[in-house]
Amino acid sequence: MPELPEVTVISEDVAALARGLEVLRAAVFRPDVTNVEPEEFERRLVGRTLRGTGRRGKIIVLDFGEVVGIVHLVISGRVLRLPGWREPDRMNTAVLEFGGEGEPLVLAFTRLWLGYFDLYEPGEEDEHPLISRLGPDPFSEGFSVEYLEDAFRRKASIKGLLLDQSVVAGLGNIYVDEVLFAAGVHPTRKADTLTPEETRKVHAATRDILRRAIELRGTTFDSYHDAFGETGGFQHELKVFTRAGEPCPRCGTRITKSRVAGRGTYSCPACQVAG
Ligand SMILES: [Zn+2]
Repeated sequence: MPELPEVTVISEDVAALARGLEVLRAAVFRPDVTNVEPEEFERRLVGRTLRGTGRRGKIIVLDFGEVVGIVHLVISGRVLRLPGWREPDRMNTAVLEFGGEGEPLVLAFTRLWLGYFDLYEPGEEDEHPLISRLGPDPFSEGFSVEYLEDAFRRKASIKGLLLDQSVVAGLGNIYVDEVLFAAGVHPTRKADTLTPEETRKVHAATRDILRRAIELRGTTFDSYHDAFGETGGFQHELKVFTRAGEPCPRCGTRITKSRVAGRGTYSCPACQVAG
């Protein structure tokens, strides 16, 4: 699933491609892709101009002025530039055609049957069920060391807490494993056992790793590509994720794979303190 860095890149790409362009055509494959009737999806978007894009956690926000698009790409969803208009299908679940000075631009939002492309009134996007429950963004002021110390006063595993979007918005399985490795904290640790120093390290690592991953335009395993069809580069900088059996880059011990918080989890049994 695209996490904060990949969603940031896709959102910025869509802005680079389509900001200032008017929607000429809009269609969804099935009613369950969006929160409005397919006819309404078309009627409310056609004639609108994309003013800008943003992100809330792992959700893309498209500002069309009088209507806001809320896009959640899950699993292998992506935004794809198509060579020309085509009716939506199982793969290209929502399709938008933009017009401007040059050639029309056609963007497909793929595999949305697990995600969605909802339409909201401007200013009401924060009431969307997933957005209203989001915790602070890692790059916001609200995401402070003090905030984390408070959030970590629970017996839940540190990994489970960091995956919880109401604790911090935007982290998923890949980046949580990398953050905990960088902080030297084992994923199975109970959050309330972290020392103040470890909490500071988790905080700093979260920002550092996400920033670096955005710089490298995300992590690509199988399906993630940016809206220009390019792969990301952060997969080459992963220290533990998918590296089971390889030597830990810090201490040389073999990295292990286990199951924590219901997710495949990679960690170093030696230098990530299990407490
Ligand atoms: Zn190690």
